[in-house]
Amino acid sequence: MKKQINVTRSFLPPFQEYCDEIKEMWDSHWLTNMGTKHKQLETELKDYLDAQNIKLYTNGHLALENAIEALGLSGEIITTPYTFASTTHAIVRCGCKPVFCDIDFDTFTMDPSKIELLITENTTAILPVHVYGNLCHVDTIKRIAQKHKLRVIYDAAHAFGVRYKGASAANFGDISMFSFHATKVFHTIEGGALTFADPALSETLNGLKNFGILSPEEVAYVGGNAKMNEFQAAMGICNLRHVDYQIEQRRNIWHRYAERLCSVKGLRLNSDNPDLESNYSYFPVVFDNYKYNRDEVYHKLETNGIKARKYFFPLTNSFDCYTGIVGFEPDRTPVAQYVANRILTLPLYADLTYDQVDRICDVILS
Ligand SMILES: *Cc1c(COP(=O)(O)O)cnc(C)c1O
Repeated sequence: MKKQINVTRSFLPPFQEYCDEIKEMWDSHWLTNMGTKHKQLETELKDYLDAQNIKLYTNGHLALENAIEALGLSGEIITTPYTFASTTHAIVRCGCKPVFCDIDFDTFTMDPSKIELLITENTTAILPVHVYGNLCHVDTIKRIAQKHKLRVIYDAAHAFGVRYKGASAANFGDISMFSFHATKVFHTIEGGALTFADPALSETLNGLKNFGILSPEEVAYVGGNAKMNEFQAAMGICNLRHVDYQIEQRRNIWHRYAERLCSVKGLRLNSDNPDLESNYSYFPVVFDNYKYNRDEVYHKLETNGIKARKYFFPLTNSFDCYTGIVGFEPDRTPVAQYVANRILTLPLYADLTYDQVDRICDVILS
């Protein structure tokens, strides 16, 4: 029996490296509340991501909710259903209404030619998602947002380390949210960050992630608790030392897949954009009139001990919790629906071997 291949495998730094990193805490007994590890990781990430300003969080989702609150958004937010549950739930949980824009076929991100049709007098923001390490059409989105005086928050959970024409994914829109969940290219076990342009947001964001407490006797916001703890930050400090090598390895594997699959009839791969430095976070394949449909390939892989993922499926506008709600009809976003019904992301992580990639491709092609 061949070894099971999972769709991802969380990176872990050498055991001793992490132990060395957390050792000081047995002297200081300072375990959370923006301690030295938190400060160090914040500085290192600000530098790595070329961010103007950065805040760390206990996960990406709460960071996103805090971003929406910090900008004081209300009414309608134009977003995409081709995403993880977090994006849509964050909008709804903050009391706003998601208005779903369709995606384009090449990047799987929001189709900018369809945004303006959705703007009403109640629209306050656009919340697009960078998907699989592709970036959104950031220039067009910026132009539309400026013209209509809308805020822009990017869900950049997939975009750690990605650059477009040399500019870091951390520098588009008003705020970008990164996820450092264990399954992401860079992780802090659970974790996340917001990067943002306007330093004036800093105080509000500090308040929102720590019960609104600005100083021992000053509680200025009705904030929650979304602080990253010291053990998470220590994991991040270790993982950041290894992330460039991880991305390099992912790139090699990505190219191995592409070589085997790029000229196969009925398979659509991610388009290659020369202006983009990707992080090779996922290897999506659209089974578009292939000899087997997506679900057949998914099951065939499964019976061969290989876990692929239907990602993103279902669309967030077809979740059970949203059935019957006006605006959530999935046929309003036909391209997203078409892709969601045909997509698989294949296993991809830094220590996946070429032999394993070949085994996966053999199953798909046989
Ligand atoms: C992972 C992810 C999130 C949520 O991040 P967490 O850190 O798991 O809370 C949000 N959006 C997208 C697109 C993601 O992939």
